[in-house]
Amino acid sequence: MSYVGPDFDPPQPRRPRRRPLTVALAALVPGALLGWVVYEAVGGGGGADRTASPAPRGSAVSSAPAASPSGGNGRGDSGGGDDGKASGSPFARPGGSGPLGGKIVVIDPGHNPGNFRHTAEINRPVDIGTNRKECDTTGTSTNDGYTEARFTIDVAHRLRDLLERQGATVKLTRDGDSPAWGPCVDERARIGNTARADAAISIHADGSSPGDRGFHVILPGSVHAGAADTRAIVGPSHDLGVRIAGDFLRETGEPPSNYLGDGTGLVTRTDLGGLNLSTVPKVFIECGNMRDSKDAALLTSGAWRQRAAQGISEGIVSFLRAS
Ligand SMILES: [Zn+2]
Repeated sequence: MSYVGPDFDPPQPRRPRRRPLTVALAALVPGALLGWVVYEAVGGGGGADRTASPAPRGSAVSSAPAASPSGGNGRGDSGGGDDGKASGSPFARPGGSGPLGGKIVVIDPGHNPGNFRHTAEINRPVDIGTNRKECDTTGTSTNDGYTEARFTIDVAHRLRDLLERQGATVKLTRDGDSPAWGPCVDERARIGNTARADAAISIHADGSSPGDRGFHVILPGSVHAGAADTRAIVGPSHDLGVRIAGDFLRETGEPPSNYLGDGTGLVTRTDLGGLNLSTVPKVFIECGNMRDSKDAALLTSGAWRQRAAQGISEGIVSFLRAS
């Protein structure tokens, strides 16, 4: 779509669609199991993070609101949640004394609802090390107009709450009282770097073609050019991403992408400023495809977004407790 800029959701070469799900799941299960085993081994199982929103395995999709068969009218409770709620500035709140006490997590909710009205500002190029690129993009939306920016801030708030319950200090790159557009992708990376985050996650939903379904986690590739040097974070970011993918799959039942990543739910990229400029372990997650009616029905459900946040949280928690 023309408004989808190149930084977050660019057109990608099409892979043969609809790989057998069994292959996709087989590819992910070892990672999921590994993450789970590590999580259990470090004592995470049964903690507050897991009990906050139990999601019966295998029932996540079937218990979600049904999608409208053709119109993508699964608005569900898209008006709910706490998106748009100003929660005070600065965006960091002190962590507690739980198992993640002393750990810092930066959550980057993709885009900004105001970007649609500030196209000149967000089109301004910024330096991402390898090249110059737009400051930010508008992001996508469902066919019913539920925007990616609203989705990302809602999941970010839910994720923040889960991580804070574990004692982490959490900082958001934008919140309800942020400026009307942005921040630019270089600034989003800088916020994680300046905070010396132990882990950073950028939350998105994709704007691909109907029929394209599923989530994928984007890992930083090795880049060393200009201000970009990801060599030190490629390894830990891969670990973080694999854990998040496994836990996201388990908590949401959302399949790995059927259009990117060969069914693994993992994609490595070297063209994203938010990753290229990061000096802390960081991944993106595209939680689903807003332009597919089945995925849209999930993305617009507050209950599903809670499961999404739960899965992301568990991946981050297991990463931080293992590191
Ligand atoms: Zn996005």
